[in-house]
Amino acid sequence: MRHWDSIGLEDFLAAHPKIRIAEINDDRFVLAGEYHLKAELAGSYLIERTYQLRLVCPRDYPKSIPKVFDEGEYFPRHQDYHTYSDGSFCLGSDLKIKSILCNDHSLTTFFEEIVVRFLYAVTHRIEFGCFPYGDLAHGEQGLIDDYGEIFGLKGKLSILRALRALGCRKREANKLACPCGCGFRLGRCEFRFVLNTYRNIERRRWFRQHLTESFTPIVKPKKTKKKLRSAR
Ligand SMILES: [Zn+2]
Repeated sequence: MRHWDSIGLEDFLAAHPKIRIAEINDDRFVLAGEYHLKAELAGSYLIERTYQLRLVCPRDYPKSIPKVFDEGEYFPRHQDYHTYSDGSFCLGSDLKIKSILCNDHSLTTFFEEIVVRFLYAVTHRIEFGCFPYGDLAHGEQGLIDDYGEIFGLKGKLSILRALRALGCRKREANKLACPCGCGFRLGRCEFRFVLNTYRNIERRRWFRQHLTESFTPIVKPKKTKKKLRSAR
């Protein structure tokens, strides 16, 4: 139990009396129970609902992200509802989740900032046919949207440049074109400070792998040589 105190397990359980420990050992703990949500975002509808959830938290959290399952069979097992066939939720990209957790990785923060937002958004989709904060895309486009938000960038090219820079040592990255679109090299733009905070979240190798495994490269249009004017 002592290991788990560092992430505020006891505080979390005290705040959620209908959630209990279903299993606990050195490698992981499993929580199960009811969570009642009542929330309304500006411009969206009120959601009031009770969920049956199961949360599996691995020992190396926050390096690995907990899995959360719908035990109440409420969420359709379909990618449109970001729910896998085993009932677990697709909570968003690891990088985004870790950037949310980088200053405070207590279980309460994980639950409030990530799980509750998910419950609200997907319930909104189920009950009212749309997501409250714009569509949640899948696959590559989902990552581009996610990273656009966390890096403050727009467009696939900028995101790929940012990931590429994060895959290099700072000295090398500074020589690359800045992803923010300012037209300078990264080393001359303040944006490098934004990017550098992500160096504490994942290693360079992770960014390099992620870039090749999760994104299709942008194919540059071939430069066609200007045809020489034929002599008249
Ligand atoms: Zn820039």
